[in-house]
Amino acid sequence: MRSEFLSFSPPALSELEVEEVLDVLRKDWLSSGPKTKLFEEKFKERVGAPAALALNSCTAGLHLSMVVHGVGPGDEVVTTPMTFSASCNVVEHQRGTVVLCDVDPETLLIDPREVEKKITKKTKVILPVHYSGHPCDMERINALARGAQAAVVEDAAHCMPSKIGDKWVGSSDNLSAFSFYATKNITTGEGGMLTGRADWVDEARLMATHGMSRDAWKRYQKGGSWKYDIAAPGYKYNLPEMASALGLVQLARLDELFAKRRKIVDFYEKEFAGSKLIVPLKTRAGFQSSHHLYVIQLQTAALSISRDQFIDQMAERNIGTSVHFIPVHIMSYYQKKYGWTPESFPNAFRAYERMLSLPLNSRMTQQDAADVVEAVHDICAKFKR
Ligand SMILES: *Cc1c(COP(=O)(O)O)cnc(C)c1O
Repeated sequence: MRSEFLSFSPPALSELEVEEVLDVLRKDWLSSGPKTKLFEEKFKERVGAPAALALNSCTAGLHLSMVVHGVGPGDEVVTTPMTFSASCNVVEHQRGTVVLCDVDPETLLIDPREVEKKITKKTKVILPVHYSGHPCDMERINALARGAQAAVVEDAAHCMPSKIGDKWVGSSDNLSAFSFYATKNITTGEGGMLTGRADWVDEARLMATHGMSRDAWKRYQKGGSWKYDIAAPGYKYNLPEMASALGLVQLARLDELFAKRRKIVDFYEKEFAGSKLIVPLKTRAGFQSSHHLYVIQLQTAALSISRDQFIDQMAERNIGTSVHFIPVHIMSYYQKKYGWTPESFPNAFRAYERMLSLPLNSRMTQQDAADVVEAVHDICAKFKR
């Protein structure tokens, strides 16, 4: 058994990131500035996006998407319970109505057949979540949205880098929100990027800085004017320069970081292939996952311990784990408002009761991964019925 605790998802930073952030601190501009602009350009290039807007979170990107598409009271937004609650909270911010669809039990992605059933005249937005970095079936979801005259907003929080066929997630016209939160595949501590059709991203840009007619970087340059107008009561969602500096380096290192992640996943897949007690998520042909998470579902009927006890056993063996996610429909606010019970979305709830996420990050060594596998096999052997 390992002697040191294996942290679930520490950031993978190098001296390069440290230098870039120090460079910002030595200059005289800390709010969104030239590095933020460059980060947007590089990100746009990297995923082939029509346009890109750096933000201080993915949640901000999702919220601005609701604002751009005019979600308001009475409008319905169709999404999944298997997500971080931010995907639904932003609908509530706009006084819209959250409509949930159950998930495919093998991938835990929103099931397009369920989406079809939930579409009404009030459907304003369909909000698929590319859970764990495996893209949803966007061809079907986009077609459903076209038929319903609804917009599509993609929760791409996990998607650096994810592909559908030969197209990166983020390259479509759909507004798509990425996260650079501390545990995500690439990080700026807190941060996000919104991609999509240029006029929508422009509108989001205006609303991300108070609805101000001209951004601060331009106003404070030599020759810049102190005058500005407020064209709409916007928000304060821009990404500071230090975070953008971090993001630039993380983005440049994306292939290196992803290759490390991929290697750990390949090892896990090989080692768990024969197990009847744990079931990893399925990957569908034609999609490339970013492998943000390595989620396993326990065959709890064949084990004498619960998922919670399994997690405790992992911790006793010095392995940090997590659960992605506690489904939105069992959160007290949503239960109360919508009257949902755990059984309202049985696939999501069943998965939740049996799932845990194993450590997966670009910092892990081969030995770390071997320790995780050993712990899982050891617990399975000990508590097999
Ligand atoms: C992390 C996450 C978010 C929110 O990202 P922030 O950058 O923290 O706002 C949204 N959706 C999903 C699925 C996430 O995992």
